[in-house]
Amino acid sequence: MTIDRVIKKFIDNNPTSDPEILRLAYDFAAEAHRGQFRKSGEPYIIHPLYVAYLLAEMKADLATITAGILHDVPEDTERTLEDLKKEFGTEVANLVKGITKLGKIKYRGLERYRENLKKMFLAMAMDVRVIFIKFCDRLHNMRTLDYLPEEKQQRIAKETLEIYAPIAGILGIWRLKWQLEDLCFKYLYPEEYHKLEYEYEVEQKAERNDFFNTIKKNITPILKDQKIQNEIEVRFKHLYSIYQKMKSKDRRFDEIYDVFALRVIVPAIDDCYKALGIIHTLWRPKPNRFKDYIAVPKPNGYRSLHTTIFGPEGKAVEFQIRTQEMHEESLYGLAAHWYYKAKNQGGMQPHWVKEIIDIQKEISDTNELIKNIKLDIFNDRIFVFSPKGDVFELSEQSTPIDFAYAVHTNIGNQATGAIVNDRLSKLDQELKNGDLVEIITEKGRQYPNRDWLKFAKTKRARDRIRQFAKKGPLENIKRFIPGMK
Ligand code: MN
Repeated sequence: MTIDRVIKKFIDNNPTSDPEILRLAYDFAAEAHRGQFRKSGEPYIIHPLYVAYLLAEMKADLATITAGILHDVPEDTERTLEDLKKEFGTEVANLVKGITKLGKIKYRGLERYRENLKKMFLAMAMDVRVIFIKFCDRLHNMRTLDYLPEEKQQRIAKETLEIYAPIAGILGIWRLKWQLEDLCFKYLYPEEYHKLEYEYEVEQKAERNDFFNTIKKNITPILKDQKIQNEIEVRFKHLYSIYQKMKSKDRRFDEIYDVFALRVIVPAIDDCYKALGIIHTLWRPKPNRFKDYIAVPKPNGYRSLHTTIFGPEGKAVEFQIRTQEMHEESLYGLAAHWYYKAKNQGGMQPHWVKEIIDIQKEISDTNELIKNIKLDIFNDRIFVFSPKGDVFELSEQSTPIDFAYAVHTNIGNQATGAIVNDRLSKLDQELKNGDLVEIITEKGRQYPNRDWLKFAKTKRARDRIRQFAKKGPLENIKRFIPGMK
């Protein structure tokens, strides 16, 4: 990575701007980081340059990219925030200050975790640009994770998956969320990752291409007849989301039909509806799968028409129809939608940013604050902590018995009760996000109670209960009748 590439990327998106400050920031940062090296052996300055490049790619403004180049200076070098303020002005210095304040987000234990979330939300509420820099910082660190010891890789990948990726999601920066998730997936579940990658990239590629070419051949002439300018691109789901789908629905890879979607990008909103009409005339739509996110955008601002149809050979395929503007918004979220366009117009903040600021004014207690921030970042899953601070991801409405089996089969089999947030609890009590759970076990017991199936939610717990409860009584008898097989 070089400063010239960063500048070129910036100029591509801002032909009339003067990029001089980027070169100055580069000279300053290169001097400050002189003699420092990354774990990969490269000079340290490559890292901030990369971060700046990723920001330029996201169409960040000049101050944000400048801050990207300088983001590690106050913490890792002799030069201070004051120096930055003198050289580059208050706006840039404040952005760097925001990042420095966010600090190293570490992932250990319940309190720290909540503290991290709070930090992220507050920084976001102050100036969302800080979060973009932090995200690009993290993305580059994830891409260079190979150079770290394995234990560190695991920890960083875990905190990225559980803190950064969901926040990228609520900001609507899907491109970033996908990239982060796939990188985490690779490090956290290497076997599953490589298997899926092979099926996806190698085994099914040719067949998939044929299928989409057939669809394109059907639709392109009609759009042309109707004089609807269009671009059709195939969108593949990223590997981690396929993996999650397979897990939650308990399906094989080739049974997941909406792994691909076709994106139709047209000039104007009424073209979107026209294109939808054409698609529904060509193929039968799947009931209840049509979503009009143009008339009713998602809370994070996402807009598009979605429909699933039965295409060639009766195979279901999803279409996403949108304008170019909506397309950019969907890739860059707030970056395209709110901040970059409406920065000076005000009033375009998504409602939850305001909500956070308001709640924050009233509540200083961190736990209360997090409880009051009603964001759906945790959608249908919850995170539960062990007394050691390990985090377990469970489905919503899980109970201590689900947690017990998530920790270890033996803990599940021997569970008799639980302590949830320092209170004695029954095994069927519903757990909530952020609960701290300890399982009380009865050492001598070897078999689970079949009745637990009435409230166990996760597949893992249910499978284990069935497996062990079934053979339990018989195994018991065997123990008392020597020689019985
Ligand atoms: Mn950094």
